[in-house]
Amino acid sequence: MNGEPREAISLDLEYDASEHESLPHVVKFSGGRSSGMMLMLLLEQGLLHRDRGDVIVFNNTSAEHPATYDFVRACSRFAEVEHGIPFFWIEYATYEDAHKGEWTRRGSYRLVNDQPLDESNPTGYRWRGEVFEELVSHQGFLPSRHKRICTTHLKLRTTNDFLAEWFAGKETTERRGHFHPEPQLTDSGVISRHRRARGKMDDAELLRKKAFVRSRPSALPEQDFANFSRVGASHMARGTFAERGYAEFAPMSGEDSVEYISLIGLRADEPRRVARVMARNRLGSGNPERASREMTDGEILCTPLADAGVGNEDVIAFWADRDWKLALAPETNLSNCVYCFMKGTTAIPKVRRDVALSDVVLAEELRSVADTPSDIHWWANLEARYERRPLKRYKGRGRRSHKKVTIGFWGVDADVTYRDLSELDEDELVALEGYSGRAALPCDCTD
Ligand code: SF4
Repeated sequence: MNGEPREAISLDLEYDASEHESLPHVVKFSGGRSSGMMLMLLLEQGLLHRDRGDVIVFNNTSAEHPATYDFVRACSRFAEVEHGIPFFWIEYATYEDAHKGEWTRRGSYRLVNDQPLDESNPTGYRWRGEVFEELVSHQGFLPSRHKRICTTHLKLRTTNDFLAEWFAGKETTERRGHFHPEPQLTDSGVISRHRRARGKMDDAELLRKKAFVRSRPSALPEQDFANFSRVGASHMARGTFAERGYAEFAPMSGEDSVEYISLIGLRADEPRRVARVMARNRLGSGNPERASREMTDGEILCTPLADAGVGNEDVIAFWADRDWKLALAPETNLSNCVYCFMKGTTAIPKVRRDVALSDVVLAEELRSVADTPSDIHWWANLEARYERRPLKRYKGRGRRSHKKVTIGFWGVDADVTYRDLSELDEDELVALEGYSGRAALPCDCTD
């Protein structure tokens, strides 16, 4: 790139082996501009094929900005109506199950449609932070930069669970959970499990934190894929998958694991991320780096925007003249989960300003909503309710601790909390005693 946005950009998918072209292609769509541009180019240049089993997946964390949801909806319509490529919205969801003779909850996923959840639309997507809180409540602690359980569970594993069923060529998802009309998991069951895992939370706190996830339905019903796609029943590419004779789930690990191409929207001006991602293709199955990214054994990563030399300027220029686009201004920092901790403490005051300024120019239905993840108070409240207060650990033997530490989104005894970040501007933050500030780290949620 030389700073001049180009007229027309052609994607040329670069395959390591010629047979890769016939593998199903999975577009991991994040809801951002770059990801959207990649999707548009793939569709418009005829690089996705329904009968190959290609599919587009959006993982809903319930913590996106309302304008992002609107953009995802527009992209999904375009993909399905104009190009006949299935586009699924999927969400992390838990259910109750018996494991080694006792009741527990397990994580999986559900299909949702592209309209918000309400009483008249029970299979709509959740957008008030419910998916995020379901995970936090299930795990009993908050994600942080050191332990990104949100990326792992809400995005990577959820996609893998979906693909195992998609590649099996089934008409419906598997029903998950028991058939009892009432939840079977009891307070004493929750507590004994926690103690066996050497958990130290007191009973009342533990039950309070588990209350949200336990309020969720005990079972995830069977869902018909065709009900969640405008492409209809034929989208399942039965010719491709049915002949393989998979049962409920296609194998995603081991020698027989399904091979597929994952298309992700990294750009040429993110060379370190691209290099890191592409290096994973060369690692063998079970390699810790692949495992840490929840890569299945048959996944082959591909970064078509980076391969075509597309940078951020190209992305902005691409969307500038389009009839529909992401309504958030390119200079705002509101993509992905709106107040994601990966944006860094130094950026959060700007995110707050971006939310406020966007609310001035956006149509009413696209503005931020109080007490949801587009409002920083939602993050502050979640942190206050799920922060942990374990006893401080000392190195060495014989020293018993009586001091407690606090672990929130920003780590152990952090110098700042989301409550502080909801009130202070940059200057006031810097003036906080002991404040060191954390810069942004790449949010490689879909890498
Ligand atoms: S965008 Fe941030 S908060 Fe959201 S899932 Fe990714 S790492 Fe977690």
